[in-house]
Amino acid sequence: MSELLTTGQCLCGAVTYKLTGQPLRMVQCHCKGCQRATGTGHISNAFFKDEQFELKGELKAYESTADSGNVNTRYFCPQCGSRIYNEVSARKGIVGVAVGSADDNSWYEPAAVVYCSERPGWDMTSTEVPNFDQMPPPPK
Ligand SMILES: [Zn+2]
Ligand SMILES: [Zn+2]
Repeated sequence: MSELLTTGQCLCGAVTYKLTGQPLRMVQCHCKGCQRATGTGHISNAFFKDEQFELKGELKAYESTADSGNVNTRYFCPQCGSRIYNEVSARKGIVGVAVGSADDNSWYEPAAVVYCSERPGWDMTSTEVPNFDQMPPPPK
């Protein structure tokens, strides 16, 4: 569990992190909130337990309420704006790391794509893994 998976950082380098072990799950999200937050067609997230994620540097947080009523807190570098991770109120202790910030993300393999109902026609994600129109119920 404690083997280094990868290091990561924001664009300017003020925020760095280490990830150890393997992700719990990997999901891409096309919801309009993720489109706005990333400026692109989807976010690619890998979920880890808090203790697998070692963060250095100061982040700013932005809270928004998801369709489910849960509060989604997105954390980003206040200097360069890079999205680093998010946390959802219903799943305390789990962080969703934006894998674009990882130095090595070759291990990334999404198991599902969510909010496909909001997917822009020009943005491609795999149709060979389960595609959900919205957010499916969280796995136990
Ligand atoms: Zn930065
Ligand atoms: Zn989303």
